[in-house]
Amino acid sequence: MEIKAIRGFNDILPNEIGKWQFVEETAREVFEGFGFSEIRIPIIERTELFSRGIGEATDIVEKEMYTFTDRSGNSLTLRPEATASMARAYLEHQIYSFDPVAKLYCIGPMFRYERPQKGRYRQFYQIDAEVFGVENPMVDAEVIIMLIHFLKKVGLENLELQINTLGCRDCRPKYREELRKFLATKSFQLCEDCQRRLQTNPLRIFDCKVESCQEAIVDAPKVVDFIDGECQKHFDKVKGYLEMAGLSYILNPRMVRGLDYYTRTAFEVVSYQLGSQNAVTGGGRYDNLFQEIGGLDVPGIGFAIGMERLISLLPKEKEFIQYPHLFLAALGEEAYGEAYRLINQLHLEGIRAELDYEAKSLKSQMRRADKLKVQYVLILGEEELKRGKAVLRNMTDKSQEEILINNLLETLKSKIVFD
Ligand SMILES: [Zn+2]
Ligand SMILES: [Zn+2]
Repeated sequence: MEIKAIRGFNDILPNEIGKWQFVEETAREVFEGFGFSEIRIPIIERTELFSRGIGEATDIVEKEMYTFTDRSGNSLTLRPEATASMARAYLEHQIYSFDPVAKLYCIGPMFRYERPQKGRYRQFYQIDAEVFGVENPMVDAEVIIMLIHFLKKVGLENLELQINTLGCRDCRPKYREELRKFLATKSFQLCEDCQRRLQTNPLRIFDCKVESCQEAIVDAPKVVDFIDGECQKHFDKVKGYLEMAGLSYILNPRMVRGLDYYTRTAFEVVSYQLGSQNAVTGGGRYDNLFQEIGGLDVPGIGFAIGMERLISLLPKEKEFIQYPHLFLAALGEEAYGEAYRLINQLHLEGIRAELDYEAKSLKSQMRRADKLKVQYVLILGEEELKRGKAVLRNMTDKSQEEILINNLLETLKSKIVFD
């Protein structure tokens, strides 16, 4: 029987890879310009890193993790997100002892056992950027500015920045209690999951997609009305810094984020491209995460971008596929030898050249050249070869000329359009 990929696990094929590489390269360029460095973290971690870091009462930890026991009996989990691992690495390698401020980014696959649907996979890719060690609201704004700059640079338009504050460990419990009281009066309206959330983590009811739950929260109290003076000051400063940078935003008091560790600033970027509304990315501040996993008090802020969603929003007209520059069509044994010699030379010079590995007719070689969308075909015939020449065909305007093989490299370099 034919073996297929596991449900929810997706191949990214050569004809799509250009988009992925473009997005990754742009992220590296933009983030490093903002002083961020890449960090690569393991795919697998101890399960408790996520259960403590993300929080027991979250969908991720409750039902979406790929958790298994290894041969030594350790409970391990495929990373469902990157922030907890990045924070662990910062603590474990004492990155703070060199400089308490760490600006890090990470690109790679994450794993969640969710219901697979179009464009949504169990192995999905994220771009994560985090700043550890800064409480100053200036850095909240800086991270948001970098994010918007990146999204615009990959070609996204009609973006809307939404922000909110979630309070801190001092003022949020008060809000949580008010919210619980309010929702308890509407508990008959809540779905089964939300009935449970009402006890464990009522803030997560905001994320529920069930209509009656959405209705129940319409008039719910807002976090922003319960935050203390320090949190208010922080939020005002974030808004001020965004305004100074010329970034417009809207306040969204319903944005609470699903993860327990978020505090204060929360943000989301929504794209209104092509008439539909898509949350492209979100992030926020998490000043309690480090305490959960390591006992140190380190503030943090960052965001994660789902790459599948981002790639689906890239401009359609942009060309991402790299076609070969040149096809070498050889006729006859001797010409094949020459084509082989030339193609090796061209590859070393960075010219993407192809030839046919089976001695086919000129017609079928030209058909393949056409299919590969090359810019030029070099036709090597035995007659021309004797005179040290070959025919160069321009596949765009179909013009042909005889060129000297000795000058091939210079001729090609002057004609080929390099991307
Ligand atoms: Zn507070
Ligand atoms: Zn619900």
